[in-house]
Amino acid sequence: MPKDYFTSLSDHKSPPTYFFFNGQTWIPSTSSETIEVISPVDGHIMGRIQKVTHSEIDQAIDRAHEAQLSWQDEPMIKRAKILHLASDWMRQHEHYLTTLLMKEIGKTHPDAKDEILRSADMIDYFAHEGLHLKGEELSGDAFPGYDQTKMAIIERVPLGVILAIAPFNYPVNLSVSKIAPALITGNAVIFKPPTQGTISSLHLTEIFRMAGIPEGIITTVTGGGKDIGDYLCTHSGINMVTFTGSSQVGKSIAEKIGMIPILFECGGNNPALVLPDSDMELTATEIVKGAFSYSGQRCTAIKYVLGLESTVNKLLPLVVKKTKEMIKMGDPRIEENNLGPLISDSAAEEIEKRIILAKAAGARIVLGGKRTGRYVEPTILENVRPSMEVLHTETFGPVVSFIKVKSIDEAIKIINESSYGLQASIFTNDEGAGIKLGQKIEVGSVQINSKPQRGPDHFPFLGIKDSGSGVQGIRYTLEAMTRLRSIVLNKPH
Ligand code: NAP
Repeated sequence: MPKDYFTSLSDHKSPPTYFFFNGQTWIPSTSSETIEVISPVDGHIMGRIQKVTHSEIDQAIDRAHEAQLSWQDEPMIKRAKILHLASDWMRQHEHYLTTLLMKEIGKTHPDAKDEILRSADMIDYFAHEGLHLKGEELSGDAFPGYDQTKMAIIERVPLGVILAIAPFNYPVNLSVSKIAPALITGNAVIFKPPTQGTISSLHLTEIFRMAGIPEGIITTVTGGGKDIGDYLCTHSGINMVTFTGSSQVGKSIAEKIGMIPILFECGGNNPALVLPDSDMELTATEIVKGAFSYSGQRCTAIKYVLGLESTVNKLLPLVVKKTKEMIKMGDPRIEENNLGPLISDSAAEEIEKRIILAKAAGARIVLGGKRTGRYVEPTILENVRPSMEVLHTETFGPVVSFIKVKSIDEAIKIINESSYGLQASIFTNDEGAGIKLGQKIEVGSVQINSKPQRGPDHFPFLGIKDSGSGVQGIRYTLEAMTRLRSIVLNKPH
């Protein structure tokens, strides 16, 4: 690992080159090629990461298989203790890691700190819950025609070597949500971090190394997803792929990888359905937070709001007012207002393009709409139709669209016709009506009277349709990263 690991970022005279972790030690790739990681905050080069080669990937996977055989035989309690040590290290270095996240992916201080502390808590929870993961024992006599001479001992066993691919918007938390459950259940991990977020992810790997994860059990391979992604995902040594990222990339991987288990969390295009009886103040507050925190670069961000005309007429001015209060002085660069830059110039340009296209197609810009470099103003649109690009595919930026519907049934139809199915919010003072409506909406989770969100992390979190496959959430992830092994004992009569 570079000498400057866990020292103040301000000490860097020139951008450091971050080596990749080959499961044993920090080394440069034999490719001699690197990729620049540019801070979205001010455009400076934060560091250069190694582009690993296919042959280095082969070696890492071979080594992981060897190491995994011993790792799965370690007592579970020992694996749990290593994970608890990792979470302690993470808390100890919270300030450093928070600063890194702020610079590398443009998170505000509260959001970055929250990501680090939540990740430490998540590691602890995985370690704890892993200890309680159980198999079972079944007797044959419960099925007609069998008796007690037949008995099944059903164990939960690791899958082997798990490929973990994380997105840029939570490079620590969504890496931990894959690495920690894989480790506690006795798997080895090949970790492919997001290019923008690699530096934070490499520090995460170092934390696991310092905590005592044995050689070969985690290998971090760095490089562009376009260059090494297909090779990794289709490698015959990979026993499971756990991926979080866009629906587009997720679908392209899923089509290639064949018959191995997958756990995919992909894009979201989340609606908020507001009923006439809802608490408008609370609804507006949740919509503003849901749409604009981390500048809308969250899979669980609210992307559109549906309501009857009279509801939207009451709600929209409140949302505009609260958004202006959040923006403070109209400058999105003020840190406390919960806004930051978009991850890259091209991401910001894409959002601007979609706003312009929506306007040209008849949408009205109620607030915002302008871009300055990587900063896009919090933008509120109305008169938006589901067929417009801004709504048709996930707009990963600070844009929320309002749609007036003639009936609640029309709103449900619009939501269910979407190709996405991550989360939806329903706002109403009638919880019973909210639950009934929630049961008609085709998404992984429905939030009543709150913005969509991933936590608490032991709740199931899943996307359907283009939003994913499989279920995350502490126990659910542990189950996904193990398989059942059934030994059937046939006792003499
Ligand atoms: P992305 O472009 O799909 O990339 C995700 C990860 O996949 C990155 O590590 C990327 O590497 C890698 N990758 C790219 N092409 C690949 C390929 N052909 N094979 C294998 N891996 C490949 O997504 P992103 O822009 O980082 O993240 C934003 C997206 O993630 C949004 O759509 C958001 O909704 C979604 N997301 C979903 C959830 C959820 O839980 N549902 C949570 C967070 C984010 P490079 O960075 O090197 O390209």
